Amino acid sequence: MTDAPVGLITSAASDNLLKDRRLEIVSTPWGDAPVLIGDIGGRQSAVILRYGEKLTLPSHKINYHANIWALRELGVESIISQNAIGSVNPAIRPGDIVVSDDFLDKTKSRAQSLFDESECWVRVDFTDPFCPRLRADLIAAANRHSNRVIERGTFVCTEGPRFETPAEIRAYAHEGGDIVGTPLVPEVIFAREAEMCFASIAPVINFGAGMAPAVVHFGPGSMNEIYYKEGLHDLIEKTLIDAISGLIGERNCNCRTALDGGFHGHPPAWLKRRTS
Ligand SMILES: [Zn+2]
Repeated sequence: MTDAPVGLITSAASDNLLKDRRLEIVSTPWGDAPVLIGDIGGRQSAVILRYGEKLTLPSHKINYHANIWALRELGVESIISQNAIGSVNPAIRPGDIVVSDDFLDKTKSRAQSLFDESECWVRVDFTDPFCPRLRADLIAAANRHSNRVIERGTFVCTEGPRFETPAEIRAYAHEGGDIVGTPLVPEVIFAREAEMCFASIAPVINFGAGMAPAVVHFGPGSMNEIYYKEGLHDLIEKTLIDAISGLIGERNCNCRTALDGGFHGHPPAWLKRRTS
């Protein structure tokens, strides 16, 4: 059993979710990253508000390098990424919760690797794009709080910040996509390259363009109303508390050795690989 803090990347963390919080500024090779340290479900947790405290950072401007490395520097081994997302698949409806098992990268301008600025590169395995151990824990916790948990799904990550067009939504569905959102990539890639476990829990708050009337943020039937007024937000926070408090420390997955044999060139000095 390890007492490593659990990482959570999300858009907001209420006082119900994160207790006894304090702000820590973590220095990384890519600049400082603000991290909230506190207690979730009795476990020490490190929380990153990916859009900034005042939601001023769109997905394509997030410092993903600094965020992931800050969590690693704090000793985090497992990262849960919470993403409020749209549906591409008519069978997945607003109010459902998706724990993805695959993703399609439709971003355009983002960094591709944690090692982009180093004199090395690495080809990591993505046969299991999300950590199977962490996924199982999230699914079990979500099923204790909701009967609308979708245990598999392909997450289409788009560049944003605009919403998708109807033609894009049709194309993503044709390619096998189930849900769509903007911040998953490169979080999921960098976490694997940092040999950390990573999984996503995604409450569905809208249908994609062309599947329903226009997507709106506020007002009747809006994404905001579905998320906050219809209880999805509370349900997700209860699930996160449940999942994090019950997280087994033993990492019996391959994430912790993701870099084995895959390096070309010399690893950068800042990469201090764990030995266990
Ligand atoms: Zn793992």
